[in-house]
Amino acid sequence: MNKIDLAIVGGGAAGMAAALYAARSNLNVVLFEGQSPGGQITLTNEVENYPGLGVENPISGPEIAMLFLNHAEKFGSKTEYTFVDSIEGTAGKFILKTSNGSWLSKAIILAPGSKAKEIGVPGERELMGLGVSTCATCDGAFFRDQEVVVIGGGNSAIEEGLFLTRFAKKVTIVHRRQEFRATPVILERAKKNKKIEWKLDCVVEKINGKNKVENVEIKNIKNNQTETFETNGVFIFIGHNPNTNFIKNTVNLDDQGYIDVNNKQETSIKGIWSAGDCSDHHYKQLITSAGDGVKAALNAIHWLEENS
Ligand SMILES: Cc1cc2nc3c(=O)[nH]c(=O)nc-3n(C[C@H](O)[C@H](O)[C@H](O)COP(=O)(O)OP(=O)(O)OC[C@H]3O[C@@H](n4cnc5c(N)ncnc54)[C@H](O)[C@@H]3O)c2cc1C
Repeated sequence: MNKIDLAIVGGGAAGMAAALYAARSNLNVVLFEGQSPGGQITLTNEVENYPGLGVENPISGPEIAMLFLNHAEKFGSKTEYTFVDSIEGTAGKFILKTSNGSWLSKAIILAPGSKAKEIGVPGERELMGLGVSTCATCDGAFFRDQEVVVIGGGNSAIEEGLFLTRFAKKVTIVHRRQEFRATPVILERAKKNKKIEWKLDCVVEKINGKNKVENVEIKNIKNNQTETFETNGVFIFIGHNPNTNFIKNTVNLDDQGYIDVNNKQETSIKGIWSAGDCSDHHYKQLITSAGDGVKAALNAIHWLEENS
């Protein structure tokens, strides 16, 4: 069996930042990535809010992903392109099983990220990052003085809709019911905002556009009438699913599947840390994920020094 000091599960911003710090501390590090390196950020074609990047020339998510990966590999981090299927064992002797074999690792950082829930309509995946977004903080500023559509009726949809009014000239919230899951105080604030319009009892059935969003097809589910609604931005806020199914019997998860961590990124199991969107309900940014990854790596490095 392959023996290593530190296994990092997930090659998004959190995992790659952790890999850089751990490899630069001379640990024998393997980063496991089941798809392509970079995670969610590879879904967007422009990132404007990572300090120091994209200042003079625009930079895309995939370009940032390759910068992160090359930086970690420069210091000796190895990348295994395979999903980790399960984790067994105890601190100092964890076994990670994959379809490419098993690894024995002294410590683990979990960084499998999360996925925004999809509404499942034509155009949604094709136009993701080209006008379709799941993050107002990330993409709101691209829609200055434009008209955008927000889909959802929970707190995040209404809060993100309010945030978008800082940039957009009009925000239309499309929600399939009359009732909202959002808390009354947030809803009230949104109802008072003159830039927000409402399409209730409505669903988006299709997102149209060639290389960017041009319009959406909206159906009223009470009277079955459909309309084509001109917009350049479609923000979908119907929740996230953390990619934690494979470790549900390994570490403690909360009721929504996020990994429980303390402020040192420690999980419920000694020798396992967690970083990034898989353990973050709120911030879900490239830099906060990378920051979590660094905290997890520094604590793992220290723990390995004390326990090897
Ligand atoms: C369309 C879009 C645009 C965005 N724009 C911005 C932006 O402009 N600025 C910004 O700061 N943030 C942006 N974000 C948010 C940012 O991408 C995320 O916060 C960040 O990618 C989270 O990093 P992460 O490492 O925690 O997880 P992820 O990026 O989700 O990466 C997790 C990785 O783990 C892998 N993985 C999962 N399970 C396993 C397993 N069992 N074994 C091996 N590998 C596994 C996945 O394949 C994935 O590559 C955007 C997100 C989206 C979706």
